Amino acid sequence: MRILVTNDDGIDAPGIKVLERIARGLSKDVWVVAPETQQSASSHSLTLHRPLRSRRISKRRHAVNGTPTDCVFLAFNKIMADGPPDMVLSGVNDGPNVGEDVTYSGTIAAAMEATLFGAPAVAFSQAYGDGRKHHWATAEQWAGRLLPMLIERGWPKRVLINVNFPDLPAADVRGIRVVRQGLHALDDTLEERIDPRGRPYYWIGAQLPAAGSGQRGTDMDALDEGYVSVTPLHMDLTHRRTLTWLREVIE
Ligand code: MN
Repeated sequence: MRILVTNDDGIDAPGIKVLERIARGLSKDVWVVAPETQQSASSHSLTLHRPLRSRRISKRRHAVNGTPTDCVFLAFNKIMADGPPDMVLSGVNDGPNVGEDVTYSGTIAAAMEATLFGAPAVAFSQAYGDGRKHHWATAEQWAGRLLPMLIERGWPKRVLINVNFPDLPAADVRGIRVVRQGLHALDDTLEERIDPRGRPYYWIGAQLPAAGSGQRGTDMDALDEGYVSVTPLHMDLTHRRTLTWLREVIE
């Protein structure tokens, strides 16, 4: 099995090294095509108005001066065009991707892009508490347990699997929960500061989810309860109930 590993935190991020080890546990044919720099919250962005460069670090390791989506696009169309990946793994992201995070996330978008090329894709994210150490070993151990199960069973084309690991040591994780995407009661922070020339500038801070938002059966709830969350996602954003209702009202 040929595996492509990518992320949105950049090719030197600690999480991608974790994911490479996970991938090497499954296959000897692991390729890394990842952004040169931090691309978190780049969503499903494709670079159209400036040239893209791919820096070859070794045969199976390439850094791209673009977004996670650019990386997957280049991997399929150029870097791995002779033998496209059988599976794409994205992450392990530095921080959770739950609720509406998934619409901002470059980690998720890389997996989305892979599904557009018909490849099964899994996105991985490790939750952590600010200022505390990351439990990367939790991602490594639990992904090692989960991925073979997913690969053995398979799942529909054009669906990606979003996996989040709780902010706990591996031994304290309570298990795996298959859950739907939740919605944050977001507490977006926006800092206004003054630059050295006296002009204001703005910095969007962390989105602070209302802890334990009480949405049972969601990705956020599973993480809060100490479980690994597994959520199948797809790119069809149609809201079915409103579609039916709107048809009756308008057509
Ligand atoms: Mn990230």
